[in-house]
Amino acid sequence: MVSAVTDFDVAIVGAGAVGLAAACLLSQQYTRIALIDNVPFKEWQQSDDYGLRVSALNIASIELLTQIGAWQDIRAMRACPYQSMHVWEQQSETHIDFDCRDTSHPMLGAIVENQVLLAALNNIVNKHSNIQYFNQHSLQHLSAVSSAAMLLELDNEVRISAELVLGADGQRSKVRKCIEVDQLTTHYQQLGLVCTVNTELDHQQTAWQCFTPDGPLALLPLDEHVCSIVWSVPEEKCRQLISLSDEQFNHQLTAAFEHKLGQLDVCSERKSFPLRGAQASQYIDHRVVLLGDAAHVVHPLAGLGLNLGLADAQHLSDLLHVSDRPLGSERVLRQYERARKSENILMQKSLELIDVFFRQERSFAKQARAVGVNMTNKLLPLKLMFMRHALGVPI
Ligand SMILES: Cc1cc2nc3c(=O)[nH]c(=O)nc-3n(C[C@H](O)[C@H](O)[C@H](O)COP(=O)(O)OP(=O)(O)OC[C@H]3O[C@@H](n4cnc5c(N)ncnc54)[C@H](O)[C@@H]3O)c2cc1C
Repeated sequence: MVSAVTDFDVAIVGAGAVGLAAACLLSQQYTRIALIDNVPFKEWQQSDDYGLRVSALNIASIELLTQIGAWQDIRAMRACPYQSMHVWEQQSETHIDFDCRDTSHPMLGAIVENQVLLAALNNIVNKHSNIQYFNQHSLQHLSAVSSAAMLLELDNEVRISAELVLGADGQRSKVRKCIEVDQLTTHYQQLGLVCTVNTELDHQQTAWQCFTPDGPLALLPLDEHVCSIVWSVPEEKCRQLISLSDEQFNHQLTAAFEHKLGQLDVCSERKSFPLRGAQASQYIDHRVVLLGDAAHVVHPLAGLGLNLGLADAQHLSDLLHVSDRPLGSERVLRQYERARKSENILMQKSLELIDVFFRQERSFAKQARAVGVNMTNKLLPLKLMFMRHALGVPI
């Protein structure tokens, strides 16, 4: 027997941070929203270990989270605002500093664990009776049931229809596969090593980024004397770093970080993930929109991946809000694609350029870097231009 179809205005596949935020934003405009995720929701407790996947949320993302009512919860749970950013090149005088005192904002952003973000957003979603959560359901097929609606077939014979489908289902997006959209992928031949460390010295509410010849090493403040590490290194070196004893690893990490925060002691497991950039060849199809990692993946060096995904959700919601066209109108979806694709490609290419720029070892390249970076550090208008882009809002 074929199961009945439940009708929705919008179906969102993927309840990661981007899908959850999109659900909260759209619940202010539409009465029937379906949210689908194949992984069971995990409760968060204050006693939980620090998560290894953390995000540097910029001011635009924090404003979005405030708008949907999640930011207060996140602050009460666990988040670390940072007021400045110190970026430098290993074994050189080349450096640049960013400080919120040069802006009208009390911080540059905040470091938040993915698990905290998801728990806070889930709390908000649960408060909206117009969002129906299909938790532990996986999208199997997606097809156009008519010119006015899409049919989503989930496992356990659940079938729903929606006028608009949002694919927020991450890097290996099933929605993207169903609409047969290609992805242009760049493998950076590096792994990102992630772990949590105790720092001997106070992190000074600063996000630290050291460019080494291997790749960038970021220390992101999580709590008093606790930081999260994202160390981008060639695959072989990453495997070697993971196989070291804690003592040997601490020694190498502290040296690579040039003792800026004194002794660093790892206090978690060490994990790695492959570094790659990716862009979907198109972000939209008939009544379907891709957003977040389903549409684009960037190098983690500036911690911008999630911010771009949240900006996708905000932009789409704003366009739908002001549009007088029917939900799913191709014209509105095209506006979304035009705006977000160009912004995301620009960011992906800029991050790749920065990574390559800092990895050039020739002395000419080193000198050019020293002049360029140190001069930028002294030119406030230029610095403010970079900061406006990173914060995602006027400064
Ligand atoms: C180690 C690490 C460090 C990072 N650091 C930063 C940082 O500092 N700053 C930053 O901004 N970004 C960072 N990122 C990137 C950031 O985490 C991602 O950009 C962001 O989480 C993407 O969110 P998303 O909601 O688009 O996708 P995801 O978080 O991947 O969520 C996708 C969801 O879709 C669900 N799903 C998948 N397939 C299906 C299906 N068939 N049916 C139903 N559900 C499905 C999954 O269960 C998942 O819940 C980091 C990433 C990693 C891995």
